[in-house]
Amino acid sequence: MIKKQVKTRNTIQRIKIMKYLKSVKTHPTAEMVYNAVVKEIPSITLATVYRNLHNLANKGKILMFEFNKEYHFDGDTCNHQHCICKKCGKITDVFQEEISKYALSKLRADNFDAKCVTIIFNGFCRKCSGV
Ligand SMILES: [Zn+2]
Ligand SMILES: [Zn+2]
Repeated sequence: MIKKQVKTRNTIQRIKIMKYLKSVKTHPTAEMVYNAVVKEIPSITLATVYRNLHNLANKGKILMFEFNKEYHFDGDTCNHQHCICKKCGKITDVFQEEISKYALSKLRADNFDAKCVTIIFNGFCRKCSGV
């Protein structure tokens, strides 16, 4: 009985986390996700959010990438690329399907059935490159 209650609570937490991630384009860190989700679930802890995010990423339900020693998460898992500014850390989505398609077709030639590709461009955003 107790176990079942825990499971239900975990499911609600996971759903809220997913819902938040799907609703934003900011590629938040675990802490940012926590700050948003805690408004709806006051009892949730940062550790719980962190664990959920890593589980979801391991299952391929969300994207996770490391930048500046911090993990960022993305609810949109496929067919888009990212530009990360080396200076301010701003992460922007790029939708250049051709790049992903090309990368995937190349990988298939190497006997690997890739379903998805994550590409990160490192450089400087307009704000940081302009002097
Ligand atoms: Zn920048
Ligand atoms: Zn993204």
